[in-house]
Amino acid sequence: MLDLPEEVQGVPLTQIKDEMKVAGYPNLRQSQKGFFCDLGYKLTAHDGLSEKQEYWFRLLYAVGLGLVPPELDKVAVDVGSMTGLYALFKKAKQHLKYPRICLSLADETPVVLSLAGPSAAHPNAINVTDGKPYGENIWYGRVNQEGKWSQNTKLPEESLAKVGRLLKHLSESPVATAKKYATLTGRCCFCNKELTEKHSTAAGFGETCAKHFGLHKEWKAAVSVIDQAAQEAQLEEDAQ
Ligand SMILES: [Zn+2]
Repeated sequence: MLDLPEEVQGVPLTQIKDEMKVAGYPNLRQSQKGFFCDLGYKLTAHDGLSEKQEYWFRLLYAVGLGLVPPELDKVAVDVGSMTGLYALFKKAKQHLKYPRICLSLADETPVVLSLAGPSAAHPNAINVTDGKPYGENIWYGRVNQEGKWSQNTKLPEESLAKVGRLLKHLSESPVATAKKYATLTGRCCFCNKELTEKHSTAAGFGETCAKHFGLHKEWKAAVSVIDQAAQEAQLEEDAQ
């Protein structure tokens, strides 16, 4: 199920009914309009709605307000289980107050993931933004713990699709995606500091961040891959 936008939560149901009627049920498709009016009728007849009915009533109101597109199935895209990603954040939370992961699209648009605090409207969800300070940033959407990607539908579909693909890669293989990012930017995918040390460049993150995110083994492994390559190169040279 889609998350209800904050704007439609807590609004009295009778107010929603009146507002939509006056506005002429904007944005709603014919079938949705029928469904909404039917619920509006039930609301008056039974002096209330069941939990499920209320959810749909509010969701269609959100469509009316233009907060959710009428193609409801498009809004929530499964980006795959984010369990790997949550494990990283959980580990990092022991060391860092605000753990983040900084990635970017192929055109170098930054994509930054951060964990919402326990008192946020969507606690423990992963917020996806362009990394700018709150209020100035572009909010792409959020991923909940079930791996549901709720997009900011005000943004163009094309950029949302790109971010969605990046998240999918990240959820499938966090370390490989981090590596790819580092190759692209030369920066640590966690703290965004420039990576100068060759082993960290290979891993996509520095040794300190590796320890914070519980990836020291992977960091070491990246080192050994390089060492191995260097050794092989040396052997080749020696053989010549
Ligand atoms: Zn770092």
